[in-house]
Amino acid sequence: MKVIRSVKELEEEGLTCFSCGFVPTMGFLHEGHLSLVRRSVSENNTTCVSIFVNPSQFGPGEDFEKYPRDIERDLSLLEETGCDIVFIPETSDMYSDSAVYVDTDRYHDILCGGSRPGHFRGVLTVVGKLFNIFCPSRAYFGEKDYQQLFLIRKMVTDLKMRVEVRGIPVVREKDGLALSSRNIYLDRPHREQAVILYKTLQKAHSLYRKGQDISTLKAQLKEYMRNGTDSGMVKTDYLEILDENSLEYRNKSDSNSRLFIAAFCGDTRLIDNSNISEGL
Ligand code: AMP
Repeated sequence: MKVIRSVKELEEEGLTCFSCGFVPTMGFLHEGHLSLVRRSVSENNTTCVSIFVNPSQFGPGEDFEKYPRDIERDLSLLEETGCDIVFIPETSDMYSDSAVYVDTDRYHDILCGGSRPGHFRGVLTVVGKLFNIFCPSRAYFGEKDYQQLFLIRKMVTDLKMRVEVRGIPVVREKDGLALSSRNIYLDRPHREQAVILYKTLQKAHSLYRKGQDISTLKAQLKEYMRNGTDSGMVKTDYLEILDENSLEYRNKSDSNSRLFIAAFCGDTRLIDNSNISEGL
């Protein structure tokens, strides 16, 4: 496995713009990330993983500085997956004197875009840069960050990028909590409470009937979340049910209805989602 720390080094090694499977990450890897890497390894001759904590996707007061990092551990985990190239650029290499960014004029004010202004501009810009560096044939993203996956697909379609985007199902802890690098922030009491996100996804599935009124269902689920946690420990940021193919609101539920939840467990913001007709 080759570890490369600058675009210049990639160029010298002849590793830019060649057909590969590509997995962008911010590191502090867990089984969720590794499921993407393994999938890429099984579907491509060469797999490249990037590790870059992208400053432009963090807002003021968010956790950019304290975002967990452990490159040595990441490298040993990646070594075992059969990954071929790990790209770990410096911020100065990705953003020196940048004036052009990738943004969206829709979807920026809903879900995580509403809670984190500028977040997706940062995500799309860095993923666009990484796509241009590697020109991968396929790129792998987790459904855990469903809105991100949706917007990357939209970017690829709208900007006519030549990469196939593959979405990979959410990997969870035994109790159902979606794996996330940020779970490390949770102390024991908050970790116990955090499972309410998963339970609410399950609840939505158990309540699901085709054609039911979405606003009533949302109200039931918000109440379920409120009642299912010790007071004040989990604060819902948003709970929305949208059409998973368009991220648009619908009045009535159907097989495309997807529940999206973001909640603060203490200071830690967690997200999760699932299709409510299919369940988990
Ligand atoms: P991150 O390092 O958080 O930027 O995540 C890198 C990639 O891993 C993104 O495509 C995420 O959606 C994906 N990912 C993160 N957590 C999970 C998970 N629990 N299951 C599947 N994919 C995940």
